[in-house]
Amino acid sequence: MGRENVSFHKRSSSVGLPTTNSNNKNRRGRQIQKTFNNVKITILCGFITILVLRGTIGINLSSSDSDSVNQNVIEETNRILAEIRSDADPSDPDDKDGTFFNPNATFTLGPKITNWDSQRKSWLNQNPEYPNFIGGKARILLLTGSPPKPCDNPIGDHYLLKSIKNKIDYCRLHGIEIVYNLAHLDIELAGYWAKLPMIRRLMLSHPEVEWIWWMDSDAFFTDMVFELPLSKYDDYNMVIHGYPDLLFDQKSWIAINTGSFLFRNCQWSLDLLDEWAPMGPKGPVREEAGKVLTANLKGRPAFEADDQSALIYLLLSKKEKWMGKVFLENSYYLHGYWAGLVDRYEEMIEKYHPGLGDERWPFVTHFVGCKPCGSYGDYPVERCLSSMERAFNFADNQVLKLYGFRHRGLLSPKIKRIRNETVTPLEFVDQFDIRRHSTERSESKS
Ligand code: UDP
Ligand code: MN
Repeated sequence: MGRENVSFHKRSSSVGLPTTNSNNKNRRGRQIQKTFNNVKITILCGFITILVLRGTIGINLSSSDSDSVNQNVIEETNRILAEIRSDADPSDPDDKDGTFFNPNATFTLGPKITNWDSQRKSWLNQNPEYPNFIGGKARILLLTGSPPKPCDNPIGDHYLLKSIKNKIDYCRLHGIEIVYNLAHLDIELAGYWAKLPMIRRLMLSHPEVEWIWWMDSDAFFTDMVFELPLSKYDDYNMVIHGYPDLLFDQKSWIAINTGSFLFRNCQWSLDLLDEWAPMGPKGPVREEAGKVLTANLKGRPAFEADDQSALIYLLLSKKEKWMGKVFLENSYYLHGYWAGLVDRYEEMIEKYHPGLGDERWPFVTHFVGCKPCGSYGDYPVERCLSSMERAFNFADNQVLKLYGFRHRGLLSPKIKRIRNETVTPLEFVDQFDIRRHSTERSESKS
């Protein structure tokens, strides 16, 4: 186009003065040609101007288009979030005012069952295809869960995802079944009490399961090799991390921790759940019970009744009835308080190896008081999140190692290769059995 303009200009400037009629004709012809060319120049300039303007305005137009699309997405997301977060369901005829609280009714987890052991035994006899022990190993079901609604802070949902991925990995590698619960089976037992009705429900729905293992969403497996020493618990029905002196001498509110514990599927456990639950109903019951717990347990701040304090109170007040079948475990971290552990992972990698489960390589790291999904934790959010990231990657390295990879650092979601690919991959297939790794002491340092 530039060359065309130049040659056109040259031609018009080379036009000589008219001398004859034929020249006149020529001149008129040339004038028409000139006018025509001028029109062409004008049109071309206009065209260029439009192109230039489109270049600039066009971008503005499309960015304001995408702004409005983004705006729509945000508005739509907020509308859906508000809908999910609202308690009322207008399409549900039972959900008139969003509450079922009846202060006159005595709270129960369900109809009183008294012969579960014999019901379960005859079911197991009639259903030999669903044995509670397989090859001498008890069938275990790990239960975890989180609130039915999105987290207050979206990053909380990311850590719920990492937490369930961590548990799926552990359970997959050790042949444990897993259930994730998002429901409040009993609206009165919302929050940290939600585990009670779900544990009971799973016992009754899965008679083939011998042990139900509850684990909080803010607890991570950090020893992917360690296995529960189940034979130790043959004569017990509940296994929970705790210290007898803290419990019985000090009556401490942190003597045991309900972030990770096991119940045997039996009548005893149903009875314990029945006695544990009555402090749970939301509202005045939970508030008043909280006062009793704070008055009786050492170190407990004033707040509504929580499941952990209520269990401690029950075990203290009815020690003879319950303690005979409760195993207080502290030889490894069935629950490990995060604050003393997460900063020592490098030291553990340096000195020890997975499979130990104790302070040398903690089985579980539990982020007590962090509340990553809620708004009000006891610790700064950044400290909690970076510590959870470290715990997740520390554990994930043990999984990735099976496949020849590791994280670049304990704070890095990025990974790197630690083994070359091979055309005979089955040479490494043994490494897929994580239990073998407990003997690989030197290798665990990588
Ligand atoms: N939880 C649940 N549903 C809820 C609220 C909580 O299943 O609506 C579970 C969740 O797994 C959570 C646990 O209850 O980890 C106990 O609460 P949290 O961990 O916040 O208590 P903490 O361990 O800090 O005392
Ligand atoms: Mn917890």
